[in-house]
Amino acid sequence: MPLMRDPRKKAEDISAAYELKEKLGEGSFSEVRVAQHIRSRRLVAVKCIRKRALKGKESMLENEIAVLRRINHENIVSLLDTFETPSKLYLVMTLLTGGELLDRILERGSYTERDASRVIRQVLEAVKYLHQLGIVHRDLKPENLLYDTPLEDSKIVISDFGLSKMEDQGVLSTACGTPAYVAPELLQQKTYGKEVDLWALGIISFILLCGYPPFYDENDTQLYKQIIKAEYEFDSPYWDEISDSAKDFIAHLLQKDPEKRYTCEQALQHPCKHTSHRCF
Ligand code: ADP
Ligand code: MG
Repeated sequence: MPLMRDPRKKAEDISAAYELKEKLGEGSFSEVRVAQHIRSRRLVAVKCIRKRALKGKESMLENEIAVLRRINHENIVSLLDTFETPSKLYLVMTLLTGGELLDRILERGSYTERDASRVIRQVLEAVKYLHQLGIVHRDLKPENLLYDTPLEDSKIVISDFGLSKMEDQGVLSTACGTPAYVAPELLQQKTYGKEVDLWALGIISFILLCGYPPFYDENDTQLYKQIIKAEYEFDSPYWDEISDSAKDFIAHLLQKDPEKRYTCEQALQHPCKHTSHRCF
């Protein structure tokens, strides 16, 4: 039974068109590899998904594909092509060569306010675009934000749409995401929507500026308690030199009440003393 009945999806083997090369990353259902388009010699990234490993979660993947097909934004990965064999599904995407934001944070320790603001502004523009389409990403974290090139001023791109969901299909309610980035309303099994992405952006902004997460406990139950209360601190000495403007920006994103939390538009309007742009 084919996974998708999509006329744009090709049934022939991907190896006729692309030469699969080294592995870039690995997830629970898939691996991502570099590949070269044989005719044009263009390099791409191919997400190879083992259908058997999906076991009933095919709709999650169909969803990722449907989402990606509708998207066209410079800060969101482009889906170029898809292939399917009886056992595997291949998503051909733009190759991003700059690595994960997580690795740059680990290399640098933390970002200056100016650099962090540049990253966050790009992600906010992309998330604003998604929200306008009624798409909630739900899994924003530094591992899913990739740099386009190894250059310092490379743009940042959102990848990995496995968990995103169309908002108009009803209230989003399955608990998902990665513990450290999950919003309070998600943990409390309340109804939730776009606001969960802004919470995750608050966590990412916090980590970029100081190099550690706002909520942390080795025990997940304790971690969830912290998150549900939205209790975090701008600890000394790490936050001493960071501007009130940046702290105010984060406070509006790590806002427990989703209705009071900043939207993308509000976050993009936040005054910034470091650049001519706004953000924080
Ligand atoms: P998963 O759903 O398993 O988390 P991802 O789509 O996040 O899969 O991909 C896993 C890893 O593969 C990423 O964290 C990244 O390191 C790498 N990767 C994914 N997409 C690309 C891409 N377009 N270009 C380069 N590397 C990529
Ligand atoms: Mg991922």
